Amino acid sequence: TIILGIESSCDETGVGIVRLDRDGGVELLADEVASSVDQHVRFGGVVPEIASRAHLEAMVPTMRRAFEVAGLGLSDVDAITVTCGPGLSGALLVGVSAAKAYAMSLGVPLYGANHLAGHVAADTLDHGPLPSPCLALLVSGGHSQLLRVDDLSGKITEIGSTIDDAAGEAYDKVARVIGLPYPGGPPIDKAAQRGNPKAIAFPRGLTGPRDAKYDFSFSGLKTSVARWVEARERDGEEIPVDDVCASFQEAVADVLTAKAVRAATELGIGTMVISGGVAANSRLKVLAAERCAAAGIELRVPRPRLCTDNGAMMAALGAHLVAAGVQPSSLDLSANPALPVSTVSV
Ligand code: ATP
Ligand code: MG
Ligand code: FE
Repeated sequence: TIILGIESSCDETGVGIVRLDRDGGVELLADEVASSVDQHVRFGGVVPEIASRAHLEAMVPTMRRAFEVAGLGLSDVDAITVTCGPGLSGALLVGVSAAKAYAMSLGVPLYGANHLAGHVAADTLDHGPLPSPCLALLVSGGHSQLLRVDDLSGKITEIGSTIDDAAGEAYDKVARVIGLPYPGGPPIDKAAQRGNPKAIAFPRGLTGPRDAKYDFSFSGLKTSVARWVEARERDGEEIPVDDVCASFQEAVADVLTAKAVRAATELGIGTMVISGGVAANSRLKVLAAERCAAAGIELRVPRPRLCTDNGAMMAALGAHLVAAGVQPSSLDLSANPALPVSTVSV
C-alpha cells in the first residue's frame, strides 16, 4: 500500500511517500521538502502571505521530485494524508486543496490529519512502531507540549503545555536579540557548543514547588536573556554570544527534560519520544539521554531532518491511520488552523 503525505502548515512544502507492508512495516520511499524560509529571513519570522504563495509555487514541483525519487507514478498511490491543522490558515489551504484534487482525480481515500501527531509519527520511520503508551515531548516553533500517546491513530492526550511561548519561538526571539539569523535554533545550537552553559544562570520557568507540574513557560527566560544583553550593551561591553547561547540552551534543555522525565516517571510510562523542530537540538538530546537512562526510560528521537516539518511524517501518520482502519475524511474537508492535538484525523 503506497501512502502519499502532504504538508504545508507553515513555511515548508513537504511531500513524502511511504510503503505500508502487509505485516504493518512502514518504509520511507521519498521525503522532499521545499522551504520558503529564505524569503522570511529579513522579516525575522514567517510572513503568512509569502508562505501561502510559496506553497502554491512549490507544490507541484515538490510532488514531481518525490515521485521521481520513489520511482513511482501517481497511479501507484493508494491513500493520501494531508495536514489540515494546526498551522497558518492560508498555508494549510494550499496543501488541503492539492490533496483533495489528487484524491478526487485518483479515486483514493483522503485523510485530513493533525500536524502535531505527524511530528510524533515521524519517529516511527526511524525506530518502528511506538509502544503503548508512550510520552511525547513535542517541541516546535509553535508548540511545546507533553502528550500521552496511547494510540497514534486516535488516542493522544495533552498532559501539559506552554503557558506562553513555545520552545522554538524562544530560540527564534533570543536569536533576534543577539543578532543571529532566523530561524534561531540552528545558529544558537552551533554557538552554544563553543560556549559555557554555566556562564549565566538564566531562570528555569515554572519549576517552583507550587507551579503546574507539566506546563512550561519560556517568555520569562527570553525576557531575562534580552535584559542581560541590553545591560551589557548599555555599558558598551562586548556580548559573549557563545556563553549566552550555551546558558540559554542549557535552561531550555534542563526544563524540558526535567519535566518530561518527571511526567513519564509519575505516569509510569516507559518510553519517551521527542519530536518537532527543537528535537533537532544537540544539547536537548544529550541531556534527555542522560536523564532517561538514569530513570530507566527508553528514549527515541528521530533524525534531525525528520524533526522539522516534512511530508514524510504525514505519510507515516497516514500509514497508521490506514493500518488501524480509521475512517477517511470527507472530500469537503477544510483547514482548521486551531485543530487540537487530541484530534488526530478529521
Ligand atoms: P509547529 O510544528 O508548532 O506548527 P513549526 O512547524 O513552525 O511549528 P517546526 O518546523 O517543527 O515548527 O520547528 C521549527 C522550530 O525549530 C524553529 O523555532 C527553530 O528555531 C527550531 N529549531 C530547529 N533546529 C533547532 C535546533 N538545532 N535547536 C533548537 N531549535 C531548533
Ligand atoms: Mg519551518
Ligand atoms: Fe511543525
